[in-house]
Amino acid sequence: MKPVLDETHDPNVQSWVESANDAGSDFPIQNLPFGVFRPRAESADARVGVAIGESILDLRGMQSKGLLADNSVPLASACAINSLNPLMALGPGARRALRRRLHTLLRDDAPASGRSSVSRHLIAQADVEMLLPAQIGDYTDFYASIFHATNVGKLFRPDNPLLPNYKYVPIGYHGRASSLVVSGTPVRRPCGQTRDAASNDAPKFGPTRSLDYELEVGFFVGTGNSLGETIPIAEAEEHIFGICLVNDWSARDIQAWEYQPLGPFLAKNFATSISPWVVTMEALAPFRTAAFARAEGDPPPLPYLFDESDQRYGGLELWLEVSILSPQMREAGVAPVVLGSSNFRDMYWTMAQMLAHHASNGCNLRAGDLLASGTVSGAEKTARGCLLELTSRGADPVTLPSGERRKFLEDGDEVILRGCCEREGFRRIGLGNCRGTILPASTS
Ligand code: CA
Repeated sequence: MKPVLDETHDPNVQSWVESANDAGSDFPIQNLPFGVFRPRAESADARVGVAIGESILDLRGMQSKGLLADNSVPLASACAINSLNPLMALGPGARRALRRRLHTLLRDDAPASGRSSVSRHLIAQADVEMLLPAQIGDYTDFYASIFHATNVGKLFRPDNPLLPNYKYVPIGYHGRASSLVVSGTPVRRPCGQTRDAASNDAPKFGPTRSLDYELEVGFFVGTGNSLGETIPIAEAEEHIFGICLVNDWSARDIQAWEYQPLGPFLAKNFATSISPWVVTMEALAPFRTAAFARAEGDPPPLPYLFDESDQRYGGLELWLEVSILSPQMREAGVAPVVLGSSNFRDMYWTMAQMLAHHASNGCNLRAGDLLASGTVSGAEKTARGCLLELTSRGADPVTLPSGERRKFLEDGDEVILRGCCEREGFRRIGLGNCRGTILPASTS
């Protein structure tokens, strides 16, 4: 679908919420991402909100005072609950109307009378705990970066890195929804079966020695499809609510031993972290770009994965970055160091192709389902989205500013993902961040 630009994208509009006008803010008035938060004040309960600068606008409070000015009962009740699922299920029309309304209320030329009633529903982000934005019924992880697939394939099959299905099928696997956690939740090093590939010894059970991150983008399903129905590629974007950052923590030694013949299992499902703010498809409109240009000689997508408009606008200019902060660096007051920086426009498959493929067999997608892209890597060595690729499975460790070396993650390491969209003539918007610190394996 051709992205629609309107007054909510005007880069010259500022907000009367001053912190939203800082050039470095991830959440200017042009962004307006949705999330679920709980005020730290005692006995406060969870509610839906919108990020604006360093604050959050409490949509439940706004709704209860009639400030969302919409007579639509579904929209009102969707803003009165503690998850984004009902708002996601309402579809793009209601979401766009709500975005326009919030933009009108928060812009700096809004009438002063309205401002004072709205400002009562602002709360500092520093005073809240962020929660998972939705009740995620199902989680699917794709493998949509051909650079990641080729780099990983080379480590295991030097002569034949890319399997013959890759350029035809958006490869994915069903992940585990129960272990999705919001940014900031510590991640315990998992135990599992591993086997030294060089010896013929029996496998052992114990803490992973190859704990890794994966820099990914997730997208939430808005309106779903009924079981047995499909979602045509031309309509797929209308079924996507918005995006977040995803860290698909992975235990490479467990993965290497268990992955054949059915794919990832316990190497992946011990934890997956996501950023708390969901940036809507509307906010991303100025940053859409052409789908990845396939190399000469690559097959075109099969007809059910091909749409002219998706080819023209289905990509997304989204800069991504992964950093690490070791305990030694933290003690020395050293800032996190960037390990990889990539761009989502380099994905072989678009979000619409992944979603249309997922539903192409009649599998029903539901509001709040999370689909993740797979590790986002690029052509350069600096654009590798996991340590497996960056260190060539530990053969070429990275050196941190503290002088420490890392093949894989150590206990106490914090991994921080960030993402932002920038384009000449538009206001920069950000995804916030997705953090997680490694706890030692459980000894019991
Ligand atoms: Ca992954």
